[in-house]
Amino acid sequence: MDVPPAPASNGHRVVCCYGDPPSYCGAVFMNASPKEVQDHITGTHLSVEHGERTNCKWCIDPISGTRCGDGLLKAQVGKHVCGVHLKMFARRCPHCLRDFSRPDALKRHLANDNIECGRKVHG
Ligand SMILES: [Zn+2]
Ligand SMILES: [Zn+2]
Ligand SMILES: [Zn+2]
Repeated sequence: MDVPPAPASNGHRVVCCYGDPPSYCGAVFMNASPKEVQDHITGTHLSVEHGERTNCKWCIDPISGTRCGDGLLKAQVGKHVCGVHLKMFARRCPHCLRDFSRPDALKRHLANDNIECGRKVHG
């Protein structure tokens, strides 16, 4: 029997790299939505800590075990991880293929297409 083809992946495959050194969580999400990831971070990793603020424990370099370390309000951590570490909010302009870190940045780009894209290609 043939090996079934890999499912088309237009969603995000995310590995959770949050946790205390030297290891990290390692939970895998297929087709994760930002909300799913935020709920996981908040529910699993932040619920065990006291206080309003925390330092981001996302492992940015598995070799050295370096953590991000950004000081954040807990309420911001999920969004921070999705945006900064997972780039889940990144959007690509379908016309000039530039990447934008957030949907509203792309929106602004599209509104200013004649300036940003060099020529009017967005309709
Ligand atoms: Zn995790
Ligand atoms: Zn971080
Ligand atoms: Zn463009």
